[in-house]
Amino acid sequence: MQDPTPLIDPFARAITYLRVSVTDRCDFRCVYCMSENMTFLPKAELLSLEELDRLCTRFIANGVKKLRITGGEPLVRKGIMTFFDGMSRHLASGALSELTLTTNASQLRRFANPLADAGLKRVNISLDTLNEQKFKDITRWGRFAQVMDGIDAADEAGLKIKINAVALKGTNDDEALHMVEWCGQRGFDITFIEVMPMGEDMGDGMRLDQFWDLDDVRAHLGAHMTLTDIPHSTGGPARYVRVEETGQKIGFITPLSHNFCESCNRVRLTCTGQLFMCLGQEDEADLRRVLRESPDDAALDAAIHAAIARKPKGHDFDYSRQGVGGKMTRHMSHTGG
Ligand code: SAM
Ligand code: SF4
Repeated sequence: MQDPTPLIDPFARAITYLRVSVTDRCDFRCVYCMSENMTFLPKAELLSLEELDRLCTRFIANGVKKLRITGGEPLVRKGIMTFFDGMSRHLASGALSELTLTTNASQLRRFANPLADAGLKRVNISLDTLNEQKFKDITRWGRFAQVMDGIDAADEAGLKIKINAVALKGTNDDEALHMVEWCGQRGFDITFIEVMPMGEDMGDGMRLDQFWDLDDVRAHLGAHMTLTDIPHSTGGPARYVRVEETGQKIGFITPLSHNFCESCNRVRLTCTGQLFMCLGQEDEADLRRVLRESPDDAALDAAIHAAIARKPKGHDFDYSRQGVGGKMTRHMSHTGG
C-alpha cells in the first residue's frame, strides 16, 4: 500500500480511527436505539461488501489505523465474514493496527472463531443488565440465554471482551455493582455509557427521565470499592478508573456531562456510505456517490480529505436545560454507535 497521507482536521487532530456501520438492521429493538416497528433501508442503498472493502481500504491508505465494525447488528449482515476476511490483509501488512467489533453478542456462537481467525483480538459487547426480565424489557426482542452463550463463545475463542452498559435510571441503576463484580470474575472490562439523545420517535421525555449521570454511578461504586483515576486515553470519550482491590478497569463514557471533543480522533461511516465527522452534528459527506461515480481512487481520497477538512470542533449535546439540547434526529443504528 502507498505511503499514507495523514488525515488531519482543522483542529490539528489526526484522524486514525474509523467506525463503520455495515447494516442498519438488527435482531434486537433496544428501547433507546430503535422503535419497535423500524423501517430499514432498501438493499440498493447499502454499500455492497466490495464497496465497503474499497472505502475502508482508502481510509487505511490515508492513515486510519483502527477500524471498528458496528451497526445495527454487524453480524446479521449477510456474508459479513467476507468483509472481515478481506480486512485481515491490512492487519497482515501492518497498515491496520486493530480490527474490532461492537456487537450484541447474539450471533457470536457462530462467528467468534472465524472472527478470531480473521485477526480480531477484542470485541465490545453491549449488555445493560444481567437480569433476564430486564434484558427482555430493554432489548424487546433479545434472548438472554443466547447472548450469554455468545459471550462464552467469544471468551472460548480467546477474544478479549469489554462489556458496554448503557446506564438507565430506574432500569439498571441497582445493578452497577453487580455488573462490575460479574465482569471482574469473568476477566472482562466494563464501560458505562450515558444514554444519548438519538432518534426522533421515542420522545425526549423518555431519555430525559432515563438519564443517569455517570458521576452518580461512579459515586455509587466508590462507596463499595476504592476507585483511582487512571490516565488511559483512547482518544475517545471514555475516562477510566482502577478498582484498587482487584485491579479491574472501569470506563465511563460521558458525552453529556463532560466534553471530550478535544481529543477526538474518529469519524463514522454509515452503511450507506455517508461520512459523519461528528456523532453530534448533522454535517455529512456522501462518499457513496463518489465511490459509485468513478473507479478512480484518487477522487475518493480527495473526497475523504475534503470531508475531514470539515470536521467540527465538537458536539452540542446538553441535558442541563429543560429539554434535550443538541438532539440528533438520526438513530444510533444509522450512524453506528
Ligand atoms: N448492535 C450492536 C450493539 O448493540 O453492540 C452495535 C450497534 S449499537 C448502535 C452500538 C452501541 O450504541 C451499543 O452499545 C448501544 O448500547 C449504544 N447505543 C444505542 N443507542 C444509544 C443511545 N441512545 N445512547 C447511548 N448509547 C446508545
Ligand atoms: Fe440493535 Fe445494538 Fe441498537 Fe440494540 S443497541 S437495537 S442491539 S443496534
